[in-house]
Amino acid sequence: MYRIRFHGRGGQGMKTASRILGTAFFLEGFEVQDAQRYGAERRGAPIFAYVRASREPIKERGIIQRPDLVIVADDTLLLIDAPGVLKGMTPQSVLLLNSEEEPKMWKDRLNFSGAVFALPDVQDLKEPTEQLHIGTVCAAAGARFVGVISQKTLKQAIQDELDILGNQIVEENLEQALRVYDLMEAYAGKIKPSSEPAVADYPDPAWIEMPYEDARISAPAIHAAATSLKNPTGLWRTLRPVIDYDRCHRCSSICSTFCPENAISVNENGYPQIDYQHCKGCLLCMEQCPHHAIESSLEHTKTLESDKGDEI
Ligand code: SF4
Ligand code: SF4
Repeated sequence: MYRIRFHGRGGQGMKTASRILGTAFFLEGFEVQDAQRYGAERRGAPIFAYVRASREPIKERGIIQRPDLVIVADDTLLLIDAPGVLKGMTPQSVLLLNSEEEPKMWKDRLNFSGAVFALPDVQDLKEPTEQLHIGTVCAAAGARFVGVISQKTLKQAIQDELDILGNQIVEENLEQALRVYDLMEAYAGKIKPSSEPAVADYPDPAWIEMPYEDARISAPAIHAAATSLKNPTGLWRTLRPVIDYDRCHRCSSICSTFCPENAISVNENGYPQIDYQHCKGCLLCMEQCPHHAIESSLEHTKTLESDKGDEI
């Protein structure tokens, strides 16, 4: 059986990736499961999706515990524990990343014993004016790694899954997917089907000692103020609001009032300033600005230098 997990952020198309790969396997005659898991259903929050595919009936259920391949659309997820990107990975598992960093750097940093590979530069997969369809790109890379999905089948699966979005979107997705499929030809068949883990492969449940704790310690309580500042929710962002100060009329209250994260402050000259450490990229400010002074840009095209916000 093939066990493949996709990790990304809400809005990046991980659900679509698992749908496309699942459909492609199905068209090749496999039995398939594909499912998605969301935490908070909001843009930018970590999500994962997974696909099982086998020539035999699949009896395994639930979240994939021992993945053969994990594909990560956003490498910032590797820096936090909660998304569980490495959960259940073994030395035989393969990690495929969308990252500007070298795979070796991630292998060392994560102390990961399996193989790590990177997608080709994803910005080169699209025309400058096009949106990057990273979910479809990840699905195509997965199809290439398993080596049992033909280009024709991949095309059909993309058309079947995205037809509802119209011709132009389908064409963009097809171009990007087929480009990555061709570029990754050398990786065809790197993932082999693995057998079902035996019960003995899982650690025995151990007795957990629960020491008595005074309620003041064991009950959930926040004892200090302003701790949310320590949570850099800007990591969730896939799209970044950018203020065009030539168009801004300094109406001040509109964008800053609507920002649900309180991430827009007004400086002494009356100009709004975005705190990119805490802006999660919902783009409500862009929708509300009456002078269209806020635009969105892809997060990965911006440098960390500008995270402190624009000075004006
Ligand atoms: S809502 Fe628009 S015009 Fe008003 S302060 Fe914000 S960016 Fe400027
Ligand atoms: S996109 Fe705009 S409204 Fe949303 S969190 Fe960022 S600054 Fe606030």
